[in-house]
Amino acid sequence: MNTKVLKFGGTSVSDGDAVRRVAAIVAKDETPRKLVVVSAQSGVTTTLLRAIAEPAALDAAVERWCNLARELGLCADVVDSFAEELRRDLQRKLPREQKADLITSYGERVSAVIVSGYLRQVGLKAVAADGRDIIVTDDNFGNARYDTTATTGRAEEILLTLLAAGEIPVVTGFIGADTRGRTTTLGRGGSDLTATLLAACLGADVVEIWTDADGVMSADPRAVREAKLIARLSYDEAVELSNFGARVLFNKSLPPAIRAGLPVHVRNTFNPSSPGTVIAADKAPANYAVTTKSNVRVATVATPEMVGAVGFLARLFGIFESFDLSVDVVSVSEASVSVTFNNFDDEREADLLSALRGLGDADVKRNRSIVAVISRYLDEEQAIFPKIFGALAEHGVDVEMISYGNREINLTLIVDGARERETLQFIHKLFEDNFRR
Ligand code: ADP
Ligand code: ASP
Ligand code: MG
Repeated sequence: MNTKVLKFGGTSVSDGDAVRRVAAIVAKDETPRKLVVVSAQSGVTTTLLRAIAEPAALDAAVERWCNLARELGLCADVVDSFAEELRRDLQRKLPREQKADLITSYGERVSAVIVSGYLRQVGLKAVAADGRDIIVTDDNFGNARYDTTATTGRAEEILLTLLAAGEIPVVTGFIGADTRGRTTTLGRGGSDLTATLLAACLGADVVEIWTDADGVMSADPRAVREAKLIARLSYDEAVELSNFGARVLFNKSLPPAIRAGLPVHVRNTFNPSSPGTVIAADKAPANYAVTTKSNVRVATVATPEMVGAVGFLARLFGIFESFDLSVDVVSVSEASVSVTFNNFDDEREADLLSALRGLGDADVKRNRSIVAVISRYLDEEQAIFPKIFGALAEHGVDVEMISYGNREINLTLIVDGARERETLQFIHKLFEDNFRR
């Protein structure tokens, strides 16, 4: 193995103890060329967003940075100069999304400077690098799309030079810049994408995503105590998991890895002896995972015009596209169609509804949840279906929409948000009882 990208998430850089663990992991790794990607300390991005409306909130972020620098024995001057520049940027009049990206970028920028400073202090040749010099994006602030060709050019120019000189670049996750040099972000949780994208651009052999869980588990371990580690996942399964709520991997982080055939290894900074989860192209042994996605909205359009009509769905999806909304689950009957979406401004919902009403009777239901089962057992052991629906009936959980797809590995159910946790737990238990490994 020649080149590895190691990404450390928010909890892995949260305090002095965590960063010392990061340094130990990097120091122990014998790969000749290593690139590190870091997130903001956990909670800092949210605090910075709050500071835009409420400048006093900034003190909490600055305090986190100062504490971290102090705990690691680093000079606090770096934090002071960032804090000063940040206070100036907070005064700037910029469009809302653009300003949010500029302000949140400080979280990752401070992390990269502190982590690289500490790695140097323990004798490693580390140097901070700013993702805005490398990741070229469009100007879709808050959810920018990267340009692979331009980013590859910059990555080769900046990072290959450092790697060839034996340096360990410590790159800011999450942030990029548009062609006019304005700061953009890749979406909440986007540091994973920085890691897979740079790994793909540099032809790395593997990406390691270091987080605070043992790897990808059969459910969010915070919601299901019995969740088990999944040792191997195919790309298909991982894509479904990350799209349907498994926050452990940012959903957009997988495509660059898949295109490059690059394995992604999810590992625990706080338990490095755990083998973690390897996500790769080959078919993995059968396993299961249950994921949830909260605050989902369901739009339904019903019209007799749809019966036998050509192009109705194209018009419907055209409306969602014009609102820049990505649709997760679709369920179609002859005279009605329901689609789910989330992350949408309440103010824009009225405009969406009136556009949909141009097609037929339309309504939007809020506070629904997606509960998804991702498993090859769905295809291979179909006797599980009556058990799933039996359990739903037994618990009195009303299923509002269903979708079963992606080569029969994903069963998606839409339920009332208030029943999400319970549904997750009993479906997970059902799989655990039926498919003990
Ligand atoms: P990081 O800051 O390292 O990127 P995140 O908070 O984004 O970490 O993701 C890790 C968290 O994802 C875990 O703490 C866990 O609660 C949550 N999670 C959700 N679903 C899963 C799953 N199936 N397996 C593991 N972790 C999961
Ligand atoms: N710091 C960013 C966030 O909180 C990106 C990340 O952690 O991946 O969303
Ligand atoms: Mg994350």
